[in-house]
Amino acid sequence: MSVSPSNTSPATGSREPAPADPRPAILIINCGSSSVKFALIGTRRETLILSGLAERLGSPEATMSWKDGEAKKAKSLPGADLIAALHEMIGLLPGNVQVVAVGHRVVHGAEAFSHSVRIDAEVLASIERCSALAPLHNPANLAGLRAAMTVFPDTPQVAVFDTAFHQTLPQRAYLYAVPYEWYQTDGVRRYGFHGTSHRYVASEAARRLGQPLESLGLITAHLGNGCSAAAIEGGRCMDTTMGLSPLEGLVMGTRSGDIDPSLQEFMAARRGWSLERIMRALNRESGLLGLSGLSNDMRTLVEAAEGGHARAQLAIDVFAYRLAKSISALSAALTRLDAIVFTGGIGENSKFIRARTAESLQVLGVALDPALNDVHGEPPSGRVSQTGTRLCLVVPTNEELMIARETLSVLNT
Ligand code: ADP
Repeated sequence: MSVSPSNTSPATGSREPAPADPRPAILIINCGSSSVKFALIGTRRETLILSGLAERLGSPEATMSWKDGEAKKAKSLPGADLIAALHEMIGLLPGNVQVVAVGHRVVHGAEAFSHSVRIDAEVLASIERCSALAPLHNPANLAGLRAAMTVFPDTPQVAVFDTAFHQTLPQRAYLYAVPYEWYQTDGVRRYGFHGTSHRYVASEAARRLGQPLESLGLITAHLGNGCSAAAIEGGRCMDTTMGLSPLEGLVMGTRSGDIDPSLQEFMAARRGWSLERIMRALNRESGLLGLSGLSNDMRTLVEAAEGGHARAQLAIDVFAYRLAKSISALSAALTRLDAIVFTGGIGENSKFIRARTAESLQVLGVALDPALNDVHGEPPSGRVSQTGTRLCLVVPTNEELMIARETLSVLNT
Protein backbone atom coordinates (compact mmCIF):
# COMPACT_ATOMS: atom_id res chain seq x y z
CA MET A 1 0.00 0.00 0.00
CA SER A 2 1.31 3.44 -0.77
CA VAL A 3 -0.84 6.11 0.82
CA SER A 4 1.30 9.03 2.03
CA PRO A 5 2.34 8.84 5.68
CA SER A 6 0.37 10.40 8.49
CA ASN A 7 -0.08 14.15 8.34
CA THR A 8 1.84 14.45 5.10
CA SER A 9 0.12 15.79 2.01
CA PRO A 10 0.58 13.44 -0.97
CA ALA A 11 0.67 16.44 -3.27
CA THR A 12 3.17 18.62 -1.45
CA GLY A 13 4.84 16.44 1.18
CA SER A 14 4.27 19.28 3.68
CA ARG A 15 3.30 18.65 7.29
CA GLU A 16 -0.32 19.29 8.21
CA PRO A 17 -0.84 21.22 11.48
CA ALA A 18 -2.85 19.19 14.03
CA PRO A 19 -6.31 20.80 13.95
CA ALA A 20 -8.17 21.35 17.19
CA ASP A 21 -11.59 20.25 15.84
CA PRO A 22 -12.23 16.57 15.02
CA ARG A 23 -10.41 15.43 11.92
CA PRO A 24 -12.85 13.74 9.51
CA ALA A 25 -11.59 10.42 8.21
CA ILE A 26 -12.76 7.44 6.18
CA LEU A 27 -12.11 3.97 7.51
CA ILE A 28 -11.29 1.48 4.75
CA ILE A 29 -11.98 -2.19 5.43
CA ASN A 30 -10.85 -5.12 3.29
CA CYS A 31 -12.07 -8.34 4.81
CA GLY A 32 -10.78 -11.83 3.94
CA SER A 33 -11.93 -15.18 5.31
CA SER A 34 -9.85 -14.91 8.50
CA SER A 35 -8.26 -11.50 8.20
CA VAL A 36 -9.14 -7.84 7.95
CA LYS A 37 -6.94 -5.10 6.51
CA PHE A 38 -7.80 -1.58 7.60
CA ALA A 39 -6.70 1.95 6.80
CA LEU A 40 -7.82 5.30 8.10
CA ILE A 41 -7.53 8.19 5.65
CA GLY A 42 -8.11 11.82 6.61
CA THR A 43 -10.48 13.47 4.14
CA ARG A 44 -9.05 16.98 4.27
CA ARG A 45 -5.72 16.21 2.64
CA GLU A 46 -6.01 12.51 1.87
CA THR A 47 -3.49 11.59 4.56
CA LEU A 48 -2.95 8.05 5.83
CA ILE A 49 -3.50 8.23 9.59
CA LEU A 50 -3.35 4.55 10.49
CA SER A 51 -3.13 1.22 8.68
CA GLY A 52 -3.02 -2.37 9.81
CA LEU A 53 -3.97 -5.99 9.54
CA ALA A 54 -5.68 -8.42 11.89
CA GLU A 55 -5.10 -12.03 10.84
CA ARG A 56 -5.71 -15.64 11.84
CA LEU A 57 -8.98 -14.41 13.33
CA GLY A 58 -10.99 -17.02 15.21
CA SER A 59 -7.82 -18.95 16.15
CA PRO A 60 -5.58 -18.91 19.24
CA GLU A 61 -2.88 -17.28 17.05
CA ALA A 62 -4.98 -14.23 16.10
CA THR A 63 -2.82 -11.09 15.91
CA MET A 64 -3.13 -7.45 14.96
CA SER A 65 -0.27 -5.43 13.50
CA TRP A 66 -0.48 -1.79 12.55
CA LYS A 67 1.47 1.23 11.45
CA ASP A 68 0.88 4.42 13.35
CA GLY A 69 2.81 7.14 11.56
CA GLU A 70 6.23 5.55 11.09
CA ALA A 71 5.93 3.25 14.14
CA LYS A 72 5.14 -0.45 13.53
CA LYS A 73 3.29 -2.19 16.35
CA ALA A 74 1.68 -5.58 16.96
CA LYS A 75 -0.22 -7.48 19.61
CA SER A 76 -1.73 -10.93 19.91
CA LEU A 77 -5.51 -11.27 20.29
CA PRO A 78 -6.03 -14.98 21.06
CA GLY A 79 -9.43 -16.19 19.85
CA ALA A 80 -10.53 -12.74 18.60
CA ASP A 81 -13.22 -12.75 15.93
CA LEU A 82 -13.91 -10.04 13.38
CA ILE A 83 -16.04 -7.91 15.69
CA ALA A 84 -13.47 -8.15 18.48
CA ALA A 85 -10.76 -7.14 16.00
CA LEU A 86 -12.77 -4.09 14.89
CA HIS A 87 -13.31 -3.07 18.53
CA GLU A 88 -9.57 -3.45 19.09
CA MET A 89 -8.92 -1.27 16.06
CA ILE A 90 -11.25 1.43 17.40
CA GLY A 91 -8.98 1.57 20.43
CA LEU A 92 -6.14 2.56 18.08
CA LEU A 93 -7.95 5.50 16.49
CA PRO A 94 -6.50 8.86 17.51
CA GLY A 95 -8.83 10.82 19.80
CA ASN A 96 -9.12 13.80 17.45
CA VAL A 97 -10.37 11.67 14.52
CA GLN A 98 -14.01 11.28 13.57
CA VAL A 99 -14.85 8.34 11.29
CA VAL A 100 -17.41 9.88 8.91
CA ALA A 101 -17.88 6.76 6.79
CA VAL A 102 -16.62 3.21 6.31
CA GLY A 103 -15.57 2.17 2.79
CA HIS A 104 -15.54 -1.58 2.09
CA ARG A 105 -13.68 -3.39 -0.64
CA VAL A 106 -16.11 -5.89 -2.17
CA VAL A 107 -14.67 -8.24 -4.77
CA HIS A 108 -17.66 -9.12 -6.95
CA GLY A 109 -20.54 -6.84 -7.90
CA ALA A 110 -21.42 -8.82 -11.06
CA GLU A 111 -23.70 -6.80 -13.37
CA ALA A 112 -25.65 -5.46 -10.40
CA PHE A 113 -23.07 -2.79 -9.52
CA SER A 114 -21.32 -0.50 -11.97
CA HIS A 115 -20.63 2.10 -9.26
CA SER A 116 -19.90 2.26 -5.56
CA VAL A 117 -23.03 2.29 -3.40
CA ARG A 118 -24.18 3.11 0.08
CA ILE A 119 -25.08 -0.05 1.97
CA ASP A 120 -28.67 -0.85 2.83
CA ALA A 121 -30.58 -4.11 3.21
CA GLU A 122 -31.25 -4.35 -0.53
CA VAL A 123 -27.58 -3.84 -1.38
CA LEU A 124 -26.54 -6.50 1.15
CA ALA A 125 -28.98 -8.96 -0.43
CA SER A 126 -27.67 -8.13 -3.88
CA ILE A 127 -24.02 -8.64 -2.82
CA GLU A 128 -25.10 -11.96 -1.34
CA ARG A 129 -26.58 -12.96 -4.70
CA CYS A 130 -23.19 -12.22 -6.33
CA SER A 131 -21.50 -14.70 -3.96
CA ALA A 132 -21.99 -17.63 -6.34
CA LEU A 133 -19.49 -15.88 -8.64
CA ALA A 134 -16.93 -15.23 -5.87
CA PRO A 135 -17.51 -17.91 -3.25
CA LEU A 136 -14.16 -17.31 -1.55
CA HIS A 137 -14.36 -13.52 -1.42
CA ASN A 138 -17.89 -12.12 -1.26
CA PRO A 139 -19.00 -14.02 1.89
CA ALA A 140 -15.89 -12.68 3.69
CA ASN A 141 -16.59 -9.15 2.41
CA LEU A 142 -20.20 -9.47 3.60
CA ALA A 143 -19.03 -10.61 7.03
CA GLY A 144 -16.89 -7.46 7.15
CA LEU A 145 -19.83 -5.29 6.14
CA ARG A 146 -22.08 -6.77 8.79
CA ALA A 147 -19.42 -6.57 11.51
CA ALA A 148 -18.69 -2.92 10.69
CA MET A 149 -22.43 -2.12 10.73
CA THR A 150 -22.57 -3.65 14.22
CA VAL A 151 -19.51 -1.79 15.47
CA PHE A 152 -20.31 1.54 13.72
CA PRO A 153 -24.15 1.47 13.70
CA ASP A 154 -24.57 5.19 13.02
CA THR A 155 -21.85 5.57 10.41
CA PRO A 156 -22.62 5.37 6.67
CA GLN A 157 -21.10 2.32 4.98
CA VAL A 158 -20.16 2.21 1.31
CA ALA A 159 -19.28 -0.77 -0.89
CA VAL A 160 -16.59 -0.29 -3.57
CA PHE A 161 -16.46 -3.19 -6.05
CA ASP A 162 -13.38 -4.64 -7.80
CA THR A 163 -15.54 -5.43 -10.81
CA ALA A 164 -17.41 -2.10 -11.15
CA PHE A 165 -14.85 -0.27 -13.31
CA HIS A 166 -15.01 -3.05 -15.90
CA GLN A 167 -18.78 -2.79 -16.35
CA THR A 168 -18.15 -0.50 -19.35
CA LEU A 169 -16.63 -3.35 -21.37
CA PRO A 170 -18.49 -3.78 -24.67
CA GLN A 171 -20.27 -7.09 -25.24
CA ARG A 172 -17.69 -8.19 -27.79
CA ALA A 173 -15.06 -7.99 -25.03
CA TYR A 174 -17.00 -9.50 -22.17
CA LEU A 175 -18.72 -12.45 -23.88
CA TYR A 176 -17.09 -15.85 -24.15
CA ALA A 177 -17.85 -17.75 -27.34
CA VAL A 178 -19.88 -20.37 -25.46
CA PRO A 179 -23.66 -20.96 -25.68
CA TYR A 180 -25.25 -17.54 -25.18
CA GLU A 181 -27.75 -18.98 -22.68
CA TRP A 182 -24.85 -19.55 -20.28
CA TYR A 183 -24.56 -15.79 -20.07
CA GLN A 184 -28.31 -15.23 -19.84
CA THR A 185 -29.10 -17.87 -17.26
CA ASP A 186 -25.86 -18.32 -15.32
CA GLY A 187 -24.05 -15.01 -15.68
CA VAL A 188 -21.11 -16.62 -17.52
CA ARG A 189 -19.13 -13.66 -18.91
CA ARG A 190 -15.90 -11.79 -18.30
CA TYR A 191 -16.16 -9.43 -15.30
CA GLY A 192 -12.58 -8.31 -14.64
CA PHE A 193 -11.03 -7.47 -11.27
CA HIS A 194 -8.51 -5.00 -9.74
CA GLY A 195 -10.85 -2.29 -11.08
CA THR A 196 -10.11 0.09 -8.21
CA SER A 197 -6.39 -0.04 -8.96
CA HIS A 198 -6.76 0.31 -12.75
CA ARG A 199 -9.07 3.27 -12.26
CA TYR A 200 -6.74 4.95 -9.77
CA VAL A 201 -3.58 4.61 -11.87
CA ALA A 202 -5.39 5.74 -15.03
CA SER A 203 -6.54 8.95 -13.36
CA GLU A 204 -3.15 9.43 -11.70
CA ALA A 205 -1.38 8.94 -15.06
CA ALA A 206 -3.63 11.61 -16.60
CA ARG A 207 -2.90 13.96 -13.70
CA ARG A 208 0.85 13.41 -14.06
CA LEU A 209 0.68 14.00 -17.81
CA GLY A 210 -1.38 17.15 -17.30
CA GLN A 211 -4.04 15.87 -19.71
CA PRO A 212 -7.72 15.13 -19.16
CA LEU A 213 -8.36 11.40 -18.68
CA GLU A 214 -11.22 11.74 -21.19
CA SER A 215 -8.66 12.42 -23.96
CA LEU A 216 -6.35 9.46 -23.29
CA GLY A 217 -5.98 5.85 -24.38
CA LEU A 218 -4.07 3.83 -21.76
CA ILE A 219 -3.06 0.27 -20.99
CA THR A 220 -2.56 -0.28 -17.27
CA ALA A 221 -0.73 -3.35 -15.94
CA HIS A 222 -1.38 -4.16 -12.27
CA LEU A 223 1.34 -6.66 -11.33
CA GLY A 224 1.15 -7.86 -7.73
CA ASN A 225 0.51 -11.35 -6.40
CA GLY A 226 -2.51 -11.25 -8.69
CA CYS A 227 -1.88 -9.64 -12.08
CA SER A 228 -4.18 -8.05 -14.64
CA ALA A 229 -4.00 -5.49 -17.41
CA ALA A 230 -6.72 -3.18 -18.73
CA ALA A 231 -7.34 -1.08 -21.84
CA ILE A 232 -8.86 2.27 -20.88
CA GLU A 233 -10.07 4.97 -23.25
CA GLY A 234 -11.71 8.21 -22.24
CA GLY A 235 -11.65 6.99 -18.62
CA ARG A 236 -13.78 3.95 -19.54
CA CYS A 237 -12.47 0.41 -19.34
CA MET A 238 -12.72 -1.23 -22.78
CA ASP A 239 -11.17 -4.63 -22.03
CA THR A 240 -9.21 -6.42 -19.33
CA THR A 241 -7.36 -9.69 -18.91
CA MET A 242 -9.23 -11.24 -15.96
CA GLY A 243 -12.56 -12.85 -16.70
CA LEU A 244 -15.31 -14.77 -14.94
CA SER A 245 -12.83 -15.21 -12.12
CA PRO A 246 -9.39 -13.77 -11.31
CA LEU A 247 -7.79 -16.92 -12.77
CA GLU A 248 -7.94 -15.76 -16.40
CA GLY A 249 -5.29 -13.74 -18.19
CA LEU A 250 -1.73 -13.03 -17.12
CA VAL A 251 0.68 -15.37 -15.35
CA MET A 252 0.47 -14.61 -11.59
CA GLY A 253 2.24 -15.63 -8.37
CA THR A 254 0.45 -18.97 -8.03
CA ARG A 255 -2.28 -18.72 -10.71
CA SER A 256 -1.84 -20.07 -14.21
CA GLY A 257 -3.66 -17.32 -16.09
CA ASP A 258 -4.90 -18.40 -19.55
CA ILE A 259 -4.82 -22.11 -20.32
CA ASP A 260 -6.53 -24.34 -22.81
CA PRO A 261 -9.68 -25.44 -20.93
CA SER A 262 -9.29 -28.99 -22.27
CA LEU A 263 -6.18 -29.29 -20.10
CA GLN A 264 -8.52 -30.00 -17.19
CA GLU A 265 -10.05 -33.09 -18.80
CA PHE A 266 -6.60 -34.21 -19.90
CA MET A 267 -5.12 -33.99 -16.39
CA ALA A 268 -8.21 -35.61 -14.85
CA ALA A 269 -7.72 -38.58 -17.19
CA ARG A 270 -3.93 -38.73 -16.68
CA ARG A 271 -3.92 -38.43 -12.89
CA GLY A 272 -7.42 -39.38 -11.83
CA TRP A 273 -7.75 -35.95 -10.22
CA SER A 274 -11.06 -34.36 -9.26
CA LEU A 275 -12.05 -30.99 -10.71
CA GLU A 276 -11.44 -29.49 -7.28
CA ARG A 277 -7.87 -30.84 -7.20
CA ILE A 278 -7.16 -29.47 -10.67
CA MET A 279 -8.59 -26.06 -9.77
CA ARG A 280 -6.40 -26.01 -6.67
CA ALA A 281 -3.38 -26.67 -8.87
CA LEU A 282 -4.36 -23.88 -11.28
CA ASN A 283 -5.04 -21.38 -8.49
CA ARG A 284 -2.38 -22.22 -5.93
CA GLU A 285 0.37 -24.33 -7.48
CA SER A 286 0.84 -22.72 -10.89
CA GLY A 287 2.06 -19.35 -12.19
CA LEU A 288 5.54 -18.23 -11.09
CA LEU A 289 5.58 -20.86 -8.34
CA GLY A 290 4.62 -23.72 -10.62
CA LEU A 291 7.04 -22.80 -13.38
CA SER A 292 10.03 -22.06 -11.13
CA GLY A 293 9.41 -24.74 -8.51
CA LEU A 294 10.99 -22.18 -6.19
CA SER A 295 8.73 -19.27 -5.20
CA ASN A 296 5.70 -17.18 -6.11
CA ASP A 297 7.61 -14.07 -5.07
CA MET A 298 9.15 -12.11 -7.93
CA ARG A 299 11.95 -10.68 -5.78
CA THR A 300 13.14 -14.19 -4.93
CA LEU A 301 12.94 -15.22 -8.57
CA VAL A 302 14.87 -12.23 -9.88
CA GLU A 303 17.65 -12.86 -7.33
CA ALA A 304 17.70 -16.58 -8.13
CA ALA A 305 17.77 -15.93 -11.89
CA GLU A 306 20.71 -13.56 -11.42
CA GLY A 307 22.43 -16.39 -9.54
CA GLY A 308 21.89 -18.76 -12.48
CA HIS A 309 18.68 -20.58 -11.42
CA ALA A 310 17.38 -21.76 -14.81
CA ARG A 311 13.75 -22.31 -13.85
CA ALA A 312 13.50 -18.97 -12.07
CA GLN A 313 14.69 -17.45 -15.35
CA LEU A 314 12.14 -19.53 -17.24
CA ALA A 315 9.28 -18.35 -14.98
CA ILE A 316 10.35 -14.73 -15.51
CA ASP A 317 10.56 -15.21 -19.28
CA VAL A 318 7.06 -16.71 -19.48
CA PHE A 319 5.66 -14.01 -17.16
CA ALA A 320 7.13 -11.12 -19.15
CA TYR A 321 6.33 -12.59 -22.58
CA ARG A 322 2.70 -13.30 -21.64
CA LEU A 323 2.38 -9.80 -20.21
CA ALA A 324 3.73 -8.25 -23.42
CA LYS A 325 1.44 -10.45 -25.49
CA SER A 326 -1.60 -9.34 -23.46
CA ILE A 327 -0.62 -5.68 -23.69
CA SER A 328 -0.39 -6.04 -27.48
CA ALA A 329 -3.76 -7.79 -27.57
CA LEU A 330 -5.39 -5.09 -25.42
CA SER A 331 -4.29 -2.44 -27.93
CA ALA A 332 -7.02 -3.87 -30.20
CA ALA A 333 -9.59 -2.42 -27.77
CA LEU A 334 -8.31 1.16 -28.22
CA THR A 335 -8.38 3.78 -30.95
CA ARG A 336 -5.27 5.45 -29.51
CA LEU A 337 -2.52 4.43 -27.09
CA ASP A 338 -0.97 7.32 -25.19
CA ALA A 339 0.80 5.35 -22.47
CA ILE A 340 1.44 1.94 -20.97
CA VAL A 341 1.35 2.17 -17.18
CA PHE A 342 3.06 -0.26 -14.79
CA THR A 343 1.81 -0.61 -11.21
CA GLY A 344 1.56 -3.09 -8.28
CA GLY A 345 4.49 -4.55 -6.31
CA ILE A 346 6.20 -5.95 -9.44
CA GLY A 347 5.19 -3.16 -11.84
CA GLU A 348 6.39 -0.44 -9.48
CA ASN A 349 9.60 -2.09 -8.22
CA SER A 350 11.02 -4.45 -10.80
CA LYS A 351 13.11 -2.73 -13.44
CA PHE A 352 14.07 -6.20 -14.62
CA ILE A 353 10.48 -7.27 -15.41
CA ARG A 354 9.65 -3.95 -17.07
CA ALA A 355 12.76 -4.27 -19.24
CA ARG A 356 12.02 -7.89 -20.20
CA THR A 357 8.42 -6.99 -21.05
CA ALA A 358 9.51 -4.00 -23.13
CA GLU A 359 11.80 -6.24 -25.20
CA SER A 360 8.71 -8.02 -26.54
CA LEU A 361 6.84 -4.77 -27.21
CA GLN A 362 9.15 -3.31 -29.85
CA VAL A 363 6.46 -3.60 -32.53
CA LEU A 364 4.34 -1.20 -30.42
CA GLY A 365 7.29 1.24 -30.46
CA VAL A 366 8.30 0.60 -26.85
CA ALA A 367 11.91 1.38 -25.88
CA LEU A 368 12.75 1.93 -22.22
CA ASP A 369 15.39 4.37 -21.03
CA PRO A 370 17.66 2.19 -18.82
CA ALA A 371 18.57 5.08 -16.49
CA LEU A 372 14.93 6.09 -15.95
CA ASN A 373 13.88 2.46 -15.59
CA ASP A 374 16.59 1.97 -12.93
CA VAL A 375 15.03 4.71 -10.77
CA HIS A 376 11.45 3.48 -11.40
CA GLY A 377 10.53 6.55 -13.42
CA GLU A 378 11.45 10.16 -13.93
CA PRO A 379 9.71 12.46 -11.44
CA PRO A 380 7.06 13.74 -11.57
CA SER A 381 5.56 11.79 -14.49
CA GLY A 382 7.07 8.37 -13.75
CA ARG A 383 8.26 8.04 -17.36
CA VAL A 384 10.57 5.08 -18.00
CA SER A 385 10.56 5.21 -21.83
CA GLN A 386 13.00 6.98 -24.14
CA THR A 387 11.89 10.33 -25.53
CA GLY A 388 10.09 9.90 -28.84
CA THR A 389 9.13 6.25 -28.19
CA ARG A 390 5.85 4.81 -26.89
CA LEU A 391 5.29 6.43 -23.50
CA CYS A 392 5.66 4.01 -20.56
CA LEU A 393 5.06 5.14 -16.99
CA VAL A 394 5.47 3.72 -13.50
CA VAL A 395 2.58 4.90 -11.32
CA PRO A 396 2.26 3.51 -7.77
CA THR A 397 -1.24 2.28 -7.09
CA ASN A 398 -3.25 3.37 -4.08
CA GLU A 399 -6.41 1.31 -3.78
CA GLU A 400 -7.15 2.52 -0.25
CA LEU A 401 -7.09 6.14 -1.38
CA MET A 402 -9.34 5.32 -4.33
CA ILE A 403 -11.81 3.57 -1.98
CA ALA A 404 -11.72 6.62 0.33
CA ARG A 405 -12.42 8.96 -2.61
CA GLU A 406 -15.26 6.75 -3.82
CA THR A 407 -16.74 6.55 -0.34
CA LEU A 408 -16.65 10.30 0.03
CA SER A 409 -18.19 10.84 -3.38
CA VAL A 410 -21.07 8.43 -2.57
CA LEU A 411 -21.62 10.31 0.69
CA ASN A 412 -21.79 13.61 -1.19
CA THR A 413 -24.33 12.46 -3.79
P1 ADP B 1 -0.59 -7.84 -3.55
O1 ADP B 1 -1.16 -8.27 -4.86
O2 ADP B 1 -0.64 -8.90 -2.50
O3 ADP B 1 -1.04 -6.46 -3.09
P2 ADP B 1 1.92 -6.51 -4.16
O4 ADP B 1 1.30 -5.50 -5.06
O5 ADP B 1 2.53 -6.05 -2.88
O6 ADP B 1 0.97 -7.73 -3.84
O7 ADP B 1 3.04 -7.27 -5.03
C1 ADP B 1 3.73 -8.38 -4.54
C2 ADP B 1 4.75 -8.80 -5.59
O8 ADP B 1 5.63 -7.70 -5.85
C3 ADP B 1 5.63 -9.97 -5.13
O9 ADP B 1 5.81 -10.88 -6.20
C4 ADP B 1 6.94 -9.28 -4.82
O10 ADP B 1 8.04 -10.12 -4.96
C5 ADP B 1 6.95 -8.20 -5.88
N1 ADP B 1 7.96 -7.17 -5.59
C6 ADP B 1 7.95 -6.25 -4.62
N2 ADP B 1 9.12 -5.54 -4.66
C7 ADP B 1 9.85 -6.05 -5.70
C8 ADP B 1 11.13 -5.77 -6.27
N3 ADP B 1 11.90 -4.81 -5.79
N4 ADP B 1 11.51 -6.49 -7.34
C9 ADP B 1 10.75 -7.48 -7.85
N5 ADP B 1 9.54 -7.78 -7.36
C10 ADP B 1 9.10 -7.09 -6.30
